[in-house]
Amino acid sequence: LWDSIWLAGQRDQAPGTIFDKIVAKEIPATIVKEDRHILAFKDINPLAPAHVLVIPKDRNGLTNLRKASAEHRDILGRLLVAGGEIANDSGLGFGDGARFVINDGPDGGQEVYHLHLHVIGGQKLGSMC
Ligand code: ADP
Repeated sequence: LWDSIWLAGQRDQAPGTIFDKIVAKEIPATIVKEDRHILAFKDINPLAPAHVLVIPKDRNGLTNLRKASAEHRDILGRLLVAGGEIANDSGLGFGDGARFVINDGPDGGQEVYHLHLHVIGGQKLGSMC
């Protein structure tokens, strides 16, 4: 028991983010996909007609992609599979293709330190940066 409590504390000591509150349903979001592992919701400040964020419910140390290690393989796969499924959903405004983006760190333009996959589309997208 004490081992598991210690491990839970060790695995992620970074401050929580607004995404924890969305996972806990303490602040509202337009949720488009949810299972035991991931949550997907519409970005509050969309960069294109369709813009969804996919996050692991349990951050488990994944503040950003550079923190990824072997223990995160399963959840990272789940994020990508969910992202692809979301981009197939014309009901969400996606057309024939989308852009999948993970911002990491200050130089990557990351603002929320809970790993998230941006799924952006609904129009023909231009250059990346
Ligand atoms: P950036 O803001 O540069 O895209 P991130 O990659 O960290 O940085 O993305 C954070 C994203 O979270 C932003 O697109 C922002 O609009 C979105 N966001 C922030 N707060 C909320 C919220 N309460 N509900 C939905 N999306 C949110």
